[in-house]
Amino acid sequence: MNMMNDKVSTDFRGDVLIVDDTPANLRLLSQMLMEQGYKVRAVTSGARALAAARAMPPDLVLLDIRMPEMNGYEVCMHLKADKRTCELPIIFISALNEADDKVNAFNVGAVDYITKPFQFAEVLARVKTHLALRRTQQQLQVMNTDLEQRLEQLDRANVRLQREITHRQRAEEMERQRVQEMEALRATMTEISGELDLSRLLPAILERAVDLIGATDGELSLYDETCSHFNVLATYHLNAHTDGSRQVIGEKAASLVASTHEPLIINDDETAIGCLPIYEMPAAQTALLVPMLAGGQLIGVISVSNGSRERKFDAQDAKLLSLFAQQATIAIQNARLFTEVQTLAITDPLTGLYNRRHFFDLAHREVERAGRANQPLSVVMFDVDHFKQVNDRYGHLCGDHVLQMVANQCRSLLRSVDVLARYGGEEFVIMLPGTPLDHAQQVAERLRQHIAYTPITTADATIQITISLGVAELNIHDQLALDGLLSHADQALYLAKQSGRNRVMRWENMTLTMPTVAPSDGMECLP
Ligand code: GH3
Ligand code: MG
Ligand code: MG
Repeated sequence: MNMMNDKVSTDFRGDVLIVDDTPANLRLLSQMLMEQGYKVRAVTSGARALAAARAMPPDLVLLDIRMPEMNGYEVCMHLKADKRTCELPIIFISALNEADDKVNAFNVGAVDYITKPFQFAEVLARVKTHLALRRTQQQLQVMNTDLEQRLEQLDRANVRLQREITHRQRAEEMERQRVQEMEALRATMTEISGELDLSRLLPAILERAVDLIGATDGELSLYDETCSHFNVLATYHLNAHTDGSRQVIGEKAASLVASTHEPLIINDDETAIGCLPIYEMPAAQTALLVPMLAGGQLIGVISVSNGSRERKFDAQDAKLLSLFAQQATIAIQNARLFTEVQTLAITDPLTGLYNRRHFFDLAHREVERAGRANQPLSVVMFDVDHFKQVNDRYGHLCGDHVLQMVANQCRSLLRSVDVLARYGGEEFVIMLPGTPLDHAQQVAERLRQHIAYTPITTADATIQITISLGVAELNIHDQLALDGLLSHADQALYLAKQSGRNRVMRWENMTLTMPTVAPSDGMECLP
């Protein structure tokens, strides 16, 4: 009691529920605990104890065992069975002092056992200990819950972070791939942009396209506006055994791309059936086609394909190949422009024949080749007779037409290796490689006759003209071989004019001879 008095306190130390059917015990315990600052509820039966505990769970229960109606064990079991009260520390206080009783008490869930008659100090010490334990337990529970929550948050953050890392890695990977592709594109463009010869450019473009996309095969078709038709001008097959001229994609798919001006990806049969004849698209193929557009105008289609269905094409491939196609289009246009300019530079605009300058370029080459190969080489030079009269009588435009017809007729009578050029005015020159003088003279005679017997018809008149021709053969021992050759032919032509026109003269052995005297069918033919 002394100790009790010493420690009288009004501090709230815990809520204790005392259950005892003996009112004296209840009072004694209640008073003692209240004096120590505990909040106390006291009930005299098990049923009341359960009701009180459920209404407001105490921090600790002091429970008598032997009670009428419901004994302490039963009360304890009910409390342990209820979620709201199962955690409550329960101390049995009983006069029963057998070991079995204690074991039983602990079995039903008690935390302690005090034997009556009890010592105040013991009861207090045990109450205090178990309340402290209970509090510690509760704190631990709170901390545990808190820890679990934090762990959960950490887990969630971790998952988010992992997702972000994966996302970034993927973005970086894509960026790296894009840079690589752009670099490949740039390198590829540098390689082909300098090529101005179409026959070399087209295969080069196709090979680079196949390489850039990582495909195995390819085709390049150019669109021919004049007949609204695609011409497959380059094919590329990685497999050496495939025939280089085989068309895999064909014109049907290219036409589809031509009409939409959009890339076409063929990864499955369904798409393939819609745009490819079955025989052109073996089942195990995938393909990608992109248009080549110059200022909105279609100039062609690049197609790449794979021998295996495993390699599918995607939108990124289509984008890359489209970019490539844009650049390839520029290269093709450049090459075409270059060819056009080159052709213009060497062509006579009226007749479409080589001009004088280009004739000299080719002639130099032929003379050199003839010298090297010890082959004969002859030249025919001819001039329209009395052409001034044609102009005077029918007009300059009509004269132009006559010159064009003469050019066409001569061209049709010559071999492809012969070089026919407009030498100036109404004068033409022909270089005949591999041709000795006699043979050249026959060619000249054939031309003379053809012109003389073929009237030229215009809207206003039928005009009969003649030509005079001079023939000479190359002397490879001559220092100024080409100049000499042309000079000799010119001299022969001059003599043909002098000796009556509409005839062939040849220059031979420092002398001019006239083996064929033309019938008098030429000169007088001018109407
Ligand atoms: P010859 O039989 O002696 O050769 O007589 P010719 O009248 O043919 O010769 P001439 O040299 O006196 O006249 C050539 C004419 O050809 C003069 C020139 O106006 C004409 N001519 C030259 N080039 C062209 C051309 O491109 N178109 C036209 N219509 N006439 C041309
Ligand atoms: Mg003339
Ligand atoms: Mg002339």
